[in-house]
Amino acid sequence: MTLNDFLNKLEDKNPGQSEYLQAVRDVYEDVFPWLDGHKEYLEEKLPERLSEPDRILEFRITWRDGKGNIRINTGWRVQHNNALGAYKGGLRFKEGLKLDTLKFLAFEQTFKDALTGLPMGGAKGGSDFNPKEFEKEDIERFCQAYMIELYRHIGQDTDVPAGDIGVGAREIGYLFGTYKKIENKFQGALTGKSPAFGGSCIREEATGYGTVYFLKHYLENSGGALEDKKVLISGSGNVALFAAEKLLNLDVNIKSVSDSDGTLEFKEGMTFDLLEALKVLKFEKRGRLNEIETGKFKDQVNYHKGKQPWGLEGANVAIPAATQNEIGENEAKALLKSGVDTICEASNMPLTTDATKYVRGLKSMTILPSKAVNAGGVAVSGLERSQNAEYQHWSAEKVDGELQSIMSDIFKTCLKYGEGDFVKGANIAGFERVANAVIAYGAN
Ligand code: NDP
Repeated sequence: MTLNDFLNKLEDKNPGQSEYLQAVRDVYEDVFPWLDGHKEYLEEKLPERLSEPDRILEFRITWRDGKGNIRINTGWRVQHNNALGAYKGGLRFKEGLKLDTLKFLAFEQTFKDALTGLPMGGAKGGSDFNPKEFEKEDIERFCQAYMIELYRHIGQDTDVPAGDIGVGAREIGYLFGTYKKIENKFQGALTGKSPAFGGSCIREEATGYGTVYFLKHYLENSGGALEDKKVLISGSGNVALFAAEKLLNLDVNIKSVSDSDGTLEFKEGMTFDLLEALKVLKFEKRGRLNEIETGKFKDQVNYHKGKQPWGLEGANVAIPAATQNEIGENEAKALLKSGVDTICEASNMPLTTDATKYVRGLKSMTILPSKAVNAGGVAVSGLERSQNAEYQHWSAEKVDGELQSIMSDIFKTCLKYGEGDFVKGANIAGFERVANAVIAYGAN
């Protein structure tokens, strides 16, 4: 069977699911040529078995807001594959969220979790609930209503959700509180909890910190130095701001962050004071970046309304940390023009297929792929599960040490399997690990 035959069949079966089809195509374009030397995986129909989720749960969430109005949302959990361990992956709350997006994320998550070397399968879930529309109390009500259905599908040895876009430590608190109440058990059925009640130190920071650890390994391996770089970051949420924090600690010049309304450019680079102001704005006040433009930092920033950071001049590294498909071919060309030679993917699938093809065809630009770069978040979630199972609480130093060691192993794996092409290395290594376990279980 050729790759095109396979993709045509997948499209017939999943019409209109463009992000899911894109994710499978992106991975299998690397995997299929490699399968020529590994016919046993084709005979055992691994491409089919690893692209189709084990199970998709879809449910209605009916809840009453603080003004007494009935509200209705849709919830999902896509349990993609548990060959390597209990299902594991985040929950996303976003207006207009579609099952298509969650299927792509769950597929990617399976290989990402495999790369960590920890015993975790892949899943993703969420709802089309829009947290930006509501006050804190309504978000609490929604989380409770969501968990009233989700609880029956998850558990510490079954499926362990965490956060993602729109679901941070606050939402995990509401979700875990409801789970605990219904089950009358204090068990690690969710990760991303506050360290004050069963969470791991460094979980909040892990995806951003892990991104920087991976980037540092890459630069050191290719003869560069992180502290010489000028970095564009998109997004200003959990991943973006903790990546910025680690970069600042390493004395790196950060030129931007963004949100869905525009880009904040730092004229002389981000400072620790600016980072603290951004954390308060985004994590506490849930405000917009243009508020910085008019505040006490107004002389240090330019705000570009409706713009992404990719057109800013004079950077070497781009860290997309907002959402999928945020860099198309035109944006990739703008990055090249700006002087960027490394795209370090912190958000999931930030490049469109065209942009990925364009960049991979260049000798002067390298992609560090999301399923490796951002695996630090789920890795520390895995460590949170271990701590919960042992009734232990590890120090921040210990967790950070483990995170650094896991990111170093992921880097070495990608290097070995990809021979210089990190996208290929991550895709093949992740696929092989899951495939070997699936074959060992026989036909089920
Ligand atoms: P957050 O919700 O904390 O932040 C998301 C950021 O991206 C916000 O600044 C948001 O802006 C911006 N954003 C979202 N959608 C768009 C859009 N369509 N256009 C422009 N900007 C947008 O999410 P996270 O930081 O947790 O996640 C960011 C990415 O990292 C996602 O791809 C996620 O899947 C991935 N990831 C996250 C992990 C984690 O541990 N949190 C782990 C691994 C991957 P606004 O406020 O305006 O919406």
